[in-house]
Amino acid sequence: MNTSDYVHILEKHEASAVRFLENIVWDTADGYHVTDVDGMTRVDFSSGAMITNSGHNNPRIIDAIRKQLDSGVYSSYLFPNKARCELHVLLSGIIPSGYQSVFMNTGSEGIETALKIARIHAHKVLKNKGLVVSFRNSYHGKMMASTAIGGTEPIKYWISPAILGEISVQVPFPNCEYEPSSYSFDDSLAAIEAQGVSLSDIGAFFIEPYQGGSCSFVPSSYAGAMQAWCRQHNVLLVSDEVQAGVARTGKMWAYEHLGIVPDVIVAAKGLSACLPLSAVCARKELFDLCEAGNFNTTHSGNPICCAAAVANLKFILDENIVANAARMGLVMRSSLEAIQAKYPWFISHVLGVGLAYAIHVHVHYKPLLKDILRKFLANGLLVISPGGVGGTTFKLVPPLIIDEAGIREGCAIIDRSIAEIVDEFNLTADTAHD
Ligand code: PMP
Repeated sequence: MNTSDYVHILEKHEASAVRFLENIVWDTADGYHVTDVDGMTRVDFSSGAMITNSGHNNPRIIDAIRKQLDSGVYSSYLFPNKARCELHVLLSGIIPSGYQSVFMNTGSEGIETALKIARIHAHKVLKNKGLVVSFRNSYHGKMMASTAIGGTEPIKYWISPAILGEISVQVPFPNCEYEPSSYSFDDSLAAIEAQGVSLSDIGAFFIEPYQGGSCSFVPSSYAGAMQAWCRQHNVLLVSDEVQAGVARTGKMWAYEHLGIVPDVIVAAKGLSACLPLSAVCARKELFDLCEAGNFNTTHSGNPICCAAAVANLKFILDENIVANAARMGLVMRSSLEAIQAKYPWFISHVLGVGLAYAIHVHVHYKPLLKDILRKFLANGLLVISPGGVGGTTFKLVPPLIIDEAGIREGCAIIDRSIAEIVDEFNLTADTAHD
């Protein structure tokens, strides 16, 4: 069967509301390369949407999953298993001391679990409404509460204003490199009150250390002021590390760039290398507020997922993948800036840290986004797109095991693809207008 056979099946049986970036049906994947069912191999600057931080088909992870399978396939949330204990021990070494963890399956579940902790804390300790403050344009998941917490307005219309108002309030993202401003945390507090919300109703701030679509970071001065205010008022600070965590930014957790220590950390994606597992880590006193049974769900802590996560974390620690992500990020930046220097009127911004990068195509070229994406794919590169505040971002997030040759190979494809687009559409500096 080839691509068109599989696409035919998908079009017939899968709801069109499931949307793929493009119909490239994966067949095999290895390291930072992916081969489709037609036999074309591409450099992967998507990491399967930031899950394969340790590289596709990592032998150590495969081996651990195989060993777990050899000991039998079983799972129960009523009784513990060995693999989840091993994962707890490893995880405890990379989260702040005094923190404990619960396991869930997806990022959205992790976020909703963090919300539950925050609401229970607000109910029992703050004795307030437990409203969550988040950033405009933020993304925290697709289930009802995780959608409500997020700041992506177009995906929230199906939730009534009453429910939205019951759960969260949004403030502008404090840093948008392409719209420089001196927006401070005090400005955020004012923005909350301007929406008729009393600061005494706030139970938690949920932040993405960088906004996923644009790879734009929260400034550390803002984060420091936010943490100080939260501590003063006993309001929780939750870091959504679903995509930014587990070495992606050249630190184990992206919040480390901001100089803060959140009360709750939500990890998923890169934690377990392809198998579904999320972890919510929080100070023990917070978990102790929650009644027993609050965090058991049927598949959470499944031994196969836990075994994969254990092998993944061991690999990341043993091979110092954090340092590799930081080092390769510098190569990525210089390669992308060299391309931008050739087409400053086409690539408006290069943003990112570690191996979480984005190039922003000038909004003027929005109508060409699909052509640009198809050009990257045709020339042999997988990316994530389009996104970001203006909707013209291509996110470049390779597996963190990538070497310099891999970064240069992928960036050479970007360079060639842009040259071809510029040529095919007769683009010049004169065609770029605001
Ligand atoms: N938070 C962030 C920052 C994310 O990037 C995502 C997924 N893209 C989620 C939450 C939701 O995770 P999941 O898709 O596993 O539910």
